[in-house]
Amino acid sequence: MLIDSHCHLDFSVFDGDRAQVLTRAITAGVAAYVVPATTAASFEKVLTLSRESIQVYAALGLHPYFMSEHDDEALTALRNALNNTPGVVAVGECGFDARLPDPQRQWQLFDAQLALAREFSLPVIVHCVRANDQVAKHLREACLPRGGIIHAFAGSEVQAERFLALGFVLGLGGSVTYSRAQKLRHVVSRLPDEGFILETDSPDMPLSGYQGQRNEPVRVKQVAEVVAELRATSVQHIGELTTANVRRVLQLNV
Ligand SMILES: [Zn+2]
Repeated sequence: MLIDSHCHLDFSVFDGDRAQVLTRAITAGVAAYVVPATTAASFEKVLTLSRESIQVYAALGLHPYFMSEHDDEALTALRNALNNTPGVVAVGECGFDARLPDPQRQWQLFDAQLALAREFSLPVIVHCVRANDQVAKHLREACLPRGGIIHAFAGSEVQAERFLALGFVLGLGGSVTYSRAQKLRHVVSRLPDEGFILETDSPDMPLSGYQGQRNEPVRVKQVAEVVAELRATSVQHIGELTTANVRRVLQLNV
């Protein structure tokens, strides 16, 4: 069994065939999905998906990519949603992206969401691009009760170890399938068993060989195959390890 720990099934690109996308993945052994919201406007759709399907788990957060949509009320909306919705598994997707503008506002919004994770005793799903050291600093200062997930980890072994020491696991997705990602693949080969989980970030981050196509949760199986190869073990073992890791970090009952 596999879990896609990060996929944006709420995005409109899935509106036409969402049920088939899920059926394809379930048939391939992908038994659960974590869907992190990205804007306050998307909360209801993500929550509806999780209510309609027992395999879908909802996280709620404000993604730095959509900064222009996060007005002053967005944080209040997030707080209210966390307060009123049982079963939300994490705060996220939130974080920092050095490719995007307005770093000061990005950090403010991230810190505010870390405070909510602490208040509601939830893990966080962190988007972190070219900012591993600074993000680790913010996570450490937030003193989170439950750690979380560094989504689409890309960094050095030292940065990986630092996130693990803070109670986080690393999300591995399409990036590891590219043979040119040698540094990342080396880090993946050396991570401790309890330190990583699998994801697709669908519809984004296509795997090697699928560039330009919509990504889908079914492809988490190919991520598992590459990770198994890098770690010289079986896909089944990777499935067992990563399922246990997602269950532990998000307290899923799957
Ligand atoms: Zn994402």
